[in-house]
Amino acid sequence: MSGVAAAQRLLAVVDKRDPHQPEFRQAVKEVVESLIPVFDVHPEYADVMERLIEPERAIQFRVAWLDDKGKIQVNRGFRVQYNQAIGPYKGGLRFHPSVNMSIIKFLGFEQIFKNSLTTLPMGGAKGGSDFDARGKSDAEIMRFCQSFMTELARHIGANIDVPAGDIGVGGKEIGYMFGQYKRLTKNFEGVLTGKGQTWGGSLIRPEATGYGLTYFVQEMLKTKNTTLAGKTVCVSGFGNVCWGTCLKSVELGAKVVTISGPDGYIYDPAGMNAEKINYLLELRATNNDVVAPYAQRFPGSQFHAGKKPWEVKCDVAMTCATQNELNGDDARQLVANGCMCVGEGSNMGCTPEAIEVLQHAGLLFSPGKASNAGGVAVSGLEMSQNSMRLRWTTEEVDQHLQRIMRDIHEQCLAACRRFNKGQDYLFGANAAGFLKVCQAMMEQGC
Ligand code: GLU
Repeated sequence: MSGVAAAQRLLAVVDKRDPHQPEFRQAVKEVVESLIPVFDVHPEYADVMERLIEPERAIQFRVAWLDDKGKIQVNRGFRVQYNQAIGPYKGGLRFHPSVNMSIIKFLGFEQIFKNSLTTLPMGGAKGGSDFDARGKSDAEIMRFCQSFMTELARHIGANIDVPAGDIGVGGKEIGYMFGQYKRLTKNFEGVLTGKGQTWGGSLIRPEATGYGLTYFVQEMLKTKNTTLAGKTVCVSGFGNVCWGTCLKSVELGAKVVTISGPDGYIYDPAGMNAEKINYLLELRATNNDVVAPYAQRFPGSQFHAGKKPWEVKCDVAMTCATQNELNGDDARQLVANGCMCVGEGSNMGCTPEAIEVLQHAGLLFSPGKASNAGGVAVSGLEMSQNSMRLRWTTEEVDQHLQRIMRDIHEQCLAACRRFNKGQDYLFGANAAGFLKVCQAMMEQGC
């Protein structure tokens, strides 16, 4: 069977089993179509992919929690334990009203290949809830997290499944969930990553996704004999990934001129500095998805309601908000404005059309599973430190992170060389990530 026929067969499996999961279908389509050259040479790998596409376990549960008025609210909770071939299940928890089984499965599927690329022994998983933190008090968020963990606890463990944060889940939420896990199990174990610095968390973990993205972009730019120094950078989002990206990009000499939220984007022609970057933490702490207050706080910056930052002229764009946040029109605008590199910090940040436009125009483009893997990589390092009962210094963690991001970049290019795919990071990430898991599954008879 040809690679094309194999990809069609795999998509048909998804369409038959999960006809109403568009995000999941999009993620599978992107991976299996990019792997056509691999299936052409190794048709038997398509059979492994068919097994892999089906999650090992998909759990859905009710989360009942008490609001401040004394009323019981109900949300839906999820944990998809996707693949355990190369290590314990590992992946974040997303709390956002858009969360459903399709989104959790797409994220879990991506996580398998991302975790494989990190060089660390971690399987793929994802979870979350449709809980909306907007307008909720801290006490309500705490009670929700406790109820969520009351259900989740029975499914996870330091050597079974280790959740972490994602959109809507930061250090605060991880703390509330960890406290509840201990109450229920009596175990003080590394069952979550992204923990607080005084109770087992790793240095650099909060910054890791953004730092890793910036290191990866730096590696891509190096192949064109240039660096981030002096470059104008557009970043979207205002959460954790955006924060780490701004910190490291500015440190490396770039001028970061945008951030964004669901309400619109901020254009700050002067560029961000330490004070402005730290203000992102204040915005997040309000439990409200808005960036408009930035423009009042820092005169000279402009708020553009309901718009995306991709219309601003830049050399480098980094998506740090959510899936499909950069579409075909946005990509054409970036190309027309002379952008040379787009790095995904969000998972599946670009639509398929956008990727086609960017690649066709010859821009450097990296998929999130490669360029945002720094977050889960440092989660893996947190697990190592917890197991060893020790704590590495900032320099030690950062050195590991830099080495891992260079390694991921090299794995992508090595896969491209092997299959004659030039500098196609999308292919490279999918092929390198998949081949390792595929080999493990065949060797284990899974
Ligand atoms: N949510 C992050 C991701 O998408 C981090 C997951 C983790 O640290 O387990 O990779």
